[in-house]
Amino acid sequence: MKYIGAHVSAAGGVENAPLNAHKLGATAFALFTKNQRQWKAKPLTQKSINLFRERCEKYGYKPEQILPHDSYLINLGHPEQEALQKSRDAFVEEMQRCMQLGLDRLNFHPGSHLRKMDISECLSCIAESINLVLDQSEGVIAVIENTAGQGSNLGWRFEELAEIIDQVEDKHRVGVCLDTCHTFAAGYDLRTQESCQKTFTEFESTVGFQYLKGMHLNDSKCELGSRKDRHHSLGQGEIGWEVFRYIMKDERFNGIPMVLETIDETIWPDEIEALKMMQ
Ligand SMILES: [Zn+2]
Ligand SMILES: [Zn+2]
Repeated sequence: MKYIGAHVSAAGGVENAPLNAHKLGATAFALFTKNQRQWKAKPLTQKSINLFRERCEKYGYKPEQILPHDSYLINLGHPEQEALQKSRDAFVEEMQRCMQLGLDRLNFHPGSHLRKMDISECLSCIAESINLVLDQSEGVIAVIENTAGQGSNLGWRFEELAEIIDQVEDKHRVGVCLDTCHTFAAGYDLRTQESCQKTFTEFESTVGFQYLKGMHLNDSKCELGSRKDRHHSLGQGEIGWEVFRYIMKDERFNGIPMVLETIDETIWPDEIEALKMMQ
């Protein structure tokens, strides 16, 4: 079973996300459980929590079909102690919001060394953050998103994802989300069936599909290996349709939320329909 949707708006309250997803004909969705550009958020109200749960039930969204995304401000590999602590605290809060909503995974960007720390040291710091956060939460998997490798962002090479996972104590509560745009921008070709085969074989041998807990389905405005994070609508960028045909036909992508973060939300229903037809 493939779960396909988009990163929908939760404006007006998290309870609006399942409704927005349903309107798109989606069988999966992503959301921010708070404003993604701010540190502070009001606690979720009981009314919001109840409505969210009711609507997920009503429209048939189980936790495995939902991929919440954390705030963009959080850097779990921050080289400075005070800022690192702030990020860790904020991430714990986000995990707790997921617990309140009955969700089982939280997608985040691994972190940046800001050129003040070496790569392995930063990856260890990120793993340590995950260990601390998992200790302060329950039942939610920390899902590391691969990045395009822009600036000093880590987690663009599969080896870096593996290095983080390796140092996480509870392997049942750590996972990976692959973003097709980021993967391509990081230098892994996805333009043909053969290149997809090669890239995902490399993912399997370096990280392993047992850790795959979500996908972001995006085309890329920038070329292979550009290390730039610029999403495009499916089939309109440098990657093209082939990777999406590949994913839709491959059982290793079953049972996880796969969500669009493409730039034109007016065509999301068409993109979702097109993906469903490829199965
Ligand atoms: Zn992301
Ligand atoms: Zn993404």
